[in-house]
Amino acid sequence: MRRMCVLAGCLLLLLAGCAPQTEYTHTFFAMDTVCSLRLPQKGEQEGEELAQAVQQLVAQLEGLWSKTLPDSEVSRLNAGESLTLEGRTAELLARSAELCTQTGGAFSPLLGRLTALWDVQNAVRPPQQEQIEALLPVPDADLLQNAAQPGFSLPEGACLDLGGIAKGAAGDAVAQLLRAEGVQSALVVMGGQVGCLGTKPDGRPWQVAVRDPDGEQGESLGTLLLQDTFAVSSGDYERYFEQDGVRYSHILDPQTGSPAQTDLRGVTVVCEDATKADALSTALFVLGSEGALELWRSLGGFEAVLVTADGRLLLTEGLEETFVFSGQERGIVLETVDQG
Ligand code: ADP
Ligand code: MG
Repeated sequence: MRRMCVLAGCLLLLLAGCAPQTEYTHTFFAMDTVCSLRLPQKGEQEGEELAQAVQQLVAQLEGLWSKTLPDSEVSRLNAGESLTLEGRTAELLARSAELCTQTGGAFSPLLGRLTALWDVQNAVRPPQQEQIEALLPVPDADLLQNAAQPGFSLPEGACLDLGGIAKGAAGDAVAQLLRAEGVQSALVVMGGQVGCLGTKPDGRPWQVAVRDPDGEQGESLGTLLLQDTFAVSSGDYERYFEQDGVRYSHILDPQTGSPAQTDLRGVTVVCEDATKADALSTALFVLGSEGALELWRSLGGFEAVLVTADGRLLLTEGLEETFVFSGQERGIVLETVDQG
């Protein structure tokens, strides 16, 4: 009887034309955000081993780069210590300096004193203008190029905040780990950052939603169809406070020292390099649509989806075949942007 059932089961699977699908999923909290991992075609044991390795790696990087954990290398530099930094930290600091230059300072890793002053996550009102001005200009990030030198330290007044890039660097490290373990298909989500390894097991691309800044989580303006790349989103809809009808988001304009007030509500950057994608998602938001598209044309190596406050979704032309727009139902107009 039992054998009959097994046979019938196999027959059903054959008829349905599919092998039994397994997928290992794991969710954890790190870097101040919810992270989740999908590992198709992985059973319990292998999945769990990989997931533990990923979680440990992210915790380790957070232990180096957090500005709140007191023993992290970033906290120790911020406290004025001279350190011979871990290779991964030195590399990330040099990358941060490079991306600061490439974005004309819109991404600025040394604005830690300003982010601490604003403390957008807990604040109910903006700080005094004099307090902001006392912290301007934000120190030049060029000095971070020397981060690999023994006994590196920050100059007086400089304070690191890698909140706009650390998750990206962690995403690159996780992708590298999974590839080294022979994983061909995975989805790694860290807050607004989605890393796509390979395709879904059926060969179709991963689907990544572009969120409606005015909608609830899960309400989207379209879907990106991606493989072997990252999509990183920043916007004014996640962490912010409001006073007198003004929204103060956690992304600061290093020029003014205050939350960026531009024509953008949300930005998604698509790029194979997650570190670059993360820094750029922050920078494009600061730059506003015009500056963001200028940077897309001049810097290259990435694509972007920009959602403006006046109801347009600007899609860079490299994503034309990759994006399924559904924002018309929400009154949003799609505009594809070319290199012109
Ligand atoms: P999230 O961390 O929510 O994914 P972002 O990648 O846009 O969002 O990073 C925002 C964080 O980066 C802020 O919380 C702050 O720590 C830091 N930050 C804010 N403004 C800037 C800026 N102009 N350049 C670099 N880092 C910034
Ligand atoms: Mg960022």
